[in-house]
Amino acid sequence: MTESDLISVVDYARASADKSKDEHTVKDQRRVNELTAKRLGCKIVARFADNDKSAMKDGVIRDEFEEMLGVLRTGQLADGTRVMGCIVVADDRLVRRTGDYERFVDALTFEEGRVYADARGFKDLYSEDVESMGLMGAVISRMEIKKMRRRAREWHRARAREGNILPGNRPFGWLEDRKTLHPVEAPLLRQAALRVLAGGSVTALCNEWQRKGVKTPRGNDWVHVSLSRVLKNPRLCGWRMIRGELIMDDRGEPVSGQWEPIITPGQWQALHAIFAERKGKVIDRFGGDQGQLPRDFREHSYLLSAIARCGVVLDDGTLCHRPLRAGQVTNADYHRYLCKAPAIGGCGRLTRRGDVVDEFVTEAVLAKLEERTTGPTDVGPWLGERELEMKQEQMRELRLRFAKHTISNTLFFTEVERLEPEIQQLRADQERFNLTAQRAAQDLTAIRRRWYSETDEDRLDLSQKRGYIREALHAVIVHPAGKGRRPFNPDLLELVWRE
Ligand SMILES: [Zn+2]
Repeated sequence: MTESDLISVVDYARASADKSKDEHTVKDQRRVNELTAKRLGCKIVARFADNDKSAMKDGVIRDEFEEMLGVLRTGQLADGTRVMGCIVVADDRLVRRTGDYERFVDALTFEEGRVYADARGFKDLYSEDVESMGLMGAVISRMEIKKMRRRAREWHRARAREGNILPGNRPFGWLEDRKTLHPVEAPLLRQAALRVLAGGSVTALCNEWQRKGVKTPRGNDWVHVSLSRVLKNPRLCGWRMIRGELIMDDRGEPVSGQWEPIITPGQWQALHAIFAERKGKVIDRFGGDQGQLPRDFREHSYLLSAIARCGVVLDDGTLCHRPLRAGQVTNADYHRYLCKAPAIGGCGRLTRRGDVVDEFVTEAVLAKLEERTTGPTDVGPWLGERELEMKQEQMRELRLRFAKHTISNTLFFTEVERLEPEIQQLRADQERFNLTAQRAAQDLTAIRRRWYSETDEDRLDLSQKRGYIREALHAVIVHPAGKGRRPFNPDLLELVWRE
């Protein structure tokens, strides 16, 4: 992480007038704030502090708190330095008089994307979840938060709805005007999106980009967080999203921006579904939920690491079943899979030459995939279309009546709260459907060529291959072959297929 990636914040400290209740001087609090900032990837660009005691003594109100509110509202210091949030030791440091909390939240949430943190970590002041807000939540009633949040959003949305290009850093893939596609970055980004759609891993892409010297617009190396953030952004297909919600027009359709898109809305929806599903789940080629799977957190160097499992029968009659680890064999051009030593959780009684196992499993999976290409690839139309249209029409009607004051506030919000989750549910369903359609349309006929190719642009990398294998197989159980050197026996490999 470089200096420019840090979030610019201010901090606030307050020494209470009642010394007996106060364990922290301003200096102490500032030290804690510094640690908090460092831990959370923030940098403090200005510091505010009030001293209740001296304020009383001098008869002067040193209102740095008020000054800070001004800074937070405008989002910048007098010299133009951007301010994206505030750090304190604890909520109670902000209290000076009634109404301070409200005004603080109001100033901080005046724009989207600001952060607030205390010594325990970030707190979401945009959230309606009062429970998680602690003291803040106790003071501000639910409705008040809603009101402030709505006001801040409306401000932002009003601009977004016009499809205006908002100020900020140049997004990767576009030129400085933020509209025209970048001749080098746009194709790269499109390729990356397609790779992930085809089951590729983001980490593998980052590694490739690092090798090629592809940098972020700020000149940094790509890492998993930054690249997945870019791929999750609907900007790719011309849409806008604020805090996880797509910006819709009055007809309930996503608003298209003024910039050139890199992929189609259908492709983006499929990507979005992939990221949503990756939060711990894997879905098969036809969109079915295959339940929890261990995530591929890191880029594996071998085809079957963590997929191949030990088939040794232990003394108590159970199968060892531990995932095998892989390693290069010294002075040989092949690797082997082996069960970890008992000290680190395996039985240590199995080892198998890796290249032959990989080849056998690859051929089995390829045969299965090729079989599929003869099956139906047309998934038909999405059946929720009509229902989604109806719900969106209802929402539009509600908004119109609300605008004309022919409906009460209470009724309006009750209805909106009922409709919104239903529409979200349908949209999520539509996304999953698009993902299925995308995958079904994928050309599997060339898979063998792409699998073994070393040079073709569309060759599969290891993470994509692992993706196909994990999609096809639950596991490969490697059964023991007995003592001594023996020829490779495929019967000792048990392929556990997903159906
Ligand atoms: Zn074992």
